[in-house]
Amino acid sequence: MEDYEIVIGLEVHVELLTKTKMFCSCLTEFGAPPNTHVCPVCTGMPGVLPVINKRAVELALKTAIVFNSEISRFCRFARKNYFYPDLPKNYQISQYEEPLAKGGYLEIDGKRIRFKRIHLEEDAGKLLHSETGFISFVDFNRSGIPLLEMVTEPDIGSPEEAEKFLEKLKQILEYLEISDCNMEEGSLRCDANISVRKKGTKELGVKTEVKNMNSFKSVRKALAYESKRQIEILKRGEKIVQETRLWNEKEEITESMRTKEEAHDYRYFPEPDLVPLEINDGWIEEIRKEIKEMPDERKERFKKDYGISDYDANVLISHKGIADYFEECVKLYNNPKVIANWIMSEILAQIKGKVLKKEEIPLKPEYLVDILKLIEENKITVNTGKEILKEVYNTGLSPCEIVEKKNLLQIQDIELIGKFVEEVIRENEKAINDWKKGKQEVISFLVGQVMRKTKGRANPNIVRNILIEYLKSLK
Ligand code: ADP
Ligand code: MG
Ligand code: ZN
Repeated sequence: MEDYEIVIGLEVHVELLTKTKMFCSCLTEFGAPPNTHVCPVCTGMPGVLPVINKRAVELALKTAIVFNSEISRFCRFARKNYFYPDLPKNYQISQYEEPLAKGGYLEIDGKRIRFKRIHLEEDAGKLLHSETGFISFVDFNRSGIPLLEMVTEPDIGSPEEAEKFLEKLKQILEYLEISDCNMEEGSLRCDANISVRKKGTKELGVKTEVKNMNSFKSVRKALAYESKRQIEILKRGEKIVQETRLWNEKEEITESMRTKEEAHDYRYFPEPDLVPLEINDGWIEEIRKEIKEMPDERKERFKKDYGISDYDANVLISHKGIADYFEECVKLYNNPKVIANWIMSEILAQIKGKVLKKEEIPLKPEYLVDILKLIEENKITVNTGKEILKEVYNTGLSPCEIVEKKNLLQIQDIELIGKFVEEVIRENEKAINDWKKGKQEVISFLVGQVMRKTKGRANPNIVRNILIEYLKSLK
């Protein structure tokens, strides 16, 4: 293994967040009933003409600018011809010899992963197969949705690096607000090209292309499997076959899908139904202004403005929605460190890794702040606060409603707490004797006992004070 190095290049497709499709005015919204967002253009009826969606071009430009790619001032779309039931026109409008942008890079851990090209194309429809395998359905809602294809140079050196690259890429695209980047819903898809070679060799080895991964983790696993497979073949003195392979998620192996001989000849040619794209400096500058703070900048600002640690800032900025949520809370309650802790421990635990926009987090910033204020005012304990948070998250009720409904207000009544303290002292003779002998730790134990009796609702500081007074009076 050690004598070989791994070479990886990725082809990433992202669905752009436009209101309408790439070449018609059908809506792009996900999850609509099948074949309700369709028209003669995106179902390939004869005689219709496509029109370029300006916003899709702008989102592509935004991406090209952020990665320092060289934007073509003049480019054309191309027809990629092939037959498949999800492609009613029998060709996909894509870009081939004249991509919208070339070059550029994304840095991970100080290393530049270069982009070969960034171009626009349209998505195909979606096939749904019945369980028996005898019937297939086709949904054209997805057909014609704008896709941005980003192809890297073979600069990635390990499966782990590929995963990191995808995570960083997704984070940046989220910040740019150009895509949902949701691999489960298919708004981000990735094919991986991989080869191995003896260390020190200049020439690239024969590659295989791996498809069908539905998470970043499976990309990493598929590449790890595939690199091992290739190295073993070379060690046996055999040759790698250039082919496309599918990742089998269940068995965690890659399987041959088609070899080079069976590869399509797409017969690309310039799309005659569309005008060429001309992009001038003025337009690029306008789009540049749309680019707001990127993740790394935001991280530095969080550290500086809110005095939080590098680690905390990193967690908070990892998703734009979380970072926005944090700032909204800080606006309402100027205690960034406390808010950061609550978001990182309690809120992230509830979200469970799902990517949400600020508005989609079921606990409104006002509500988190309400809980924190109740704690600050000693009306509830921290533990009660955490319980309330879960309940607000699940029911959408306000913290105050929950406190009232469940009678959760912290017990501060000195007389009431006194009663519990008396009880505990009566029930723990041995501990009291220990205390009389000078064992100070006993106090914490007794406080714990009172807290248990009050189901955590007593104010622990008051409990401690009353307890100490009582104990002193016993001497
Ligand atoms: P193809 O014409 O087969 O699609 P491209 O040159 O367009 O090949 O490259 C497709 C992807 O494969 C790119 O991401 C590129 O970096 C990667 N790639 C090309 N050659 C190799 C190789 N020998 N090993 C690993 N990745 C490669
Ligand atoms: Mg290719
Ligand atoms: Zn349409």
